[in-house]
Amino acid sequence: MDKDRSKIYIFNSYSNKLEEFKPIDKNTVKMYLCGPTVYGLAHIGHAKSSITFDILNRYFKYLGYNVKFIRNYTDVGHLEHDADDTEDKIQKQAIKEHIEPMEIAQKYMNSYREDMAILNILPPNIEPQATSYINEQIENVKTILNKGFGYEINGSIYFDVKKYNEKFQKYGILSGRKIEDMMPETRELDNQNEKKNNIDFALWKKADSKHIMQWNSPWGYGYPGWHTECVVLSTKYLGELFDIHGGGYDLKFPHHEAELAQSNVIHNTNLANYWVHTNLVNIDGKKMSKSANNYITLKDLFFNTNNIFNKTFSPMDLRFLMLQTHYRSTLTITKDSLEAAHKGYIKLINALKDIKNIEYKTEYTGSNNDINNIIEDNINDIFNELNNDINTPKVISNIFNLTKIINDIRNNNLAINNINKDTFLKMKDSFINVVENILALQEPKINKNIVNILLELYKNAKQKKDYIEVDFIRNKLYSIGIKFCDSKNNINFEYI
Ligand SMILES: [Zn+2]
Repeated sequence: MDKDRSKIYIFNSYSNKLEEFKPIDKNTVKMYLCGPTVYGLAHIGHAKSSITFDILNRYFKYLGYNVKFIRNYTDVGHLEHDADDTEDKIQKQAIKEHIEPMEIAQKYMNSYREDMAILNILPPNIEPQATSYINEQIENVKTILNKGFGYEINGSIYFDVKKYNEKFQKYGILSGRKIEDMMPETRELDNQNEKKNNIDFALWKKADSKHIMQWNSPWGYGYPGWHTECVVLSTKYLGELFDIHGGGYDLKFPHHEAELAQSNVIHNTNLANYWVHTNLVNIDGKKMSKSANNYITLKDLFFNTNNIFNKTFSPMDLRFLMLQTHYRSTLTITKDSLEAAHKGYIKLINALKDIKNIEYKTEYTGSNNDINNIIEDNINDIFNELNNDINTPKVISNIFNLTKIINDIRNNNLAINNINKDTFLKMKDSFINVVENILALQEPKINKNIVNILLELYKNAKQKKDYIEVDFIRNKLYSIGIKFCDSKNNINFEYI
């Protein structure tokens, strides 16, 4: 199996091109992903960046790297519409639900962890919360002030973007924006808030007496800005320059531009060598929003008959669907695409179940060289495509080519001794590893011992020609996603 680490390429938003991946430490990959602002249930959009970075995490581990993966929880400072003069999202929700802001954060962190676990996403090494690092964030703001790139107005501290850009000429590099294009807006809005320029962002906000979450600082009571948080939490655990910083496309501006700017000022680094962004998800071709009435939480999709698709889909259906589109492409989710994804996932997972049970017990007859070449080519392509900016749609297409071969073996359309033993074992090992450990698609959680007991009852009923009993067992199993397949010599089961 190809475990050559030298061939990985990742698209870097900073350079706007595909680049060979070279970690700073030979054996460790340090990766930071912007986590959720925990003021509501996770929705379908959250799943996309989580799944993408899970594949990266898993693939690096598969290649033998230690991965240090940090994903934060934003529990303060993320204001409505990403603006500097609106309400804090956590506080607003706390007032709405009549509970403490920290209860809001805890409630939705717990829920987020549940959602990530059933999507089979590996937990990060550390999940820091912004409110646990207020002192570090105050120090960060002080440093920026000392270096002359921040200014205080009425107890709030802002980052001077214009001044920063004059020195570093980098503001807008991740999102492809030019500061000149962002400035005209500034003039119009200059008098509408206290900032020098509208593109300046808050590092620290003064809290008025009504604000529940506030901490003392050299500038009076207040709270840190959202953009302060991630640069502090990432460098605390990964150092002043680490390998990968990730997030959704919508975080490029202003959040990541603001992080990059602070890191340049404080550490004279770009914070991360590779800035990786996942594209967005829409529902039926429309941006997901509560006002468009197409907003769907993960819990509603998995467990409740939601009014958008009028049907539930499993976490693995969604995971499979997301992997069928490259992470840098927009994903349109429809009921049809979810149904198709379910079929694709089931096909693949049945092949996984089957290949685990197929043993190579005979002698190779060497009568069919083509099949060996096809298998070898597909395995090589799978790893080449993983190396090529984790091109999961192409990986899945190669996995389906192997699925067809596995089905042919199972259905006795292809004798196993037509395949070279080493090639077969390589296929078995690669298929199981790629599906279970890298794409991380799991078999449905069904107790196979109970299925086997029912299989015995089914066989007995068939022998006794008790067709009422046969139909009863068959229908009950069907309702939980299992079908018995009767062949001449055997009765087996498959997922449906
Ligand atoms: Zn962030």
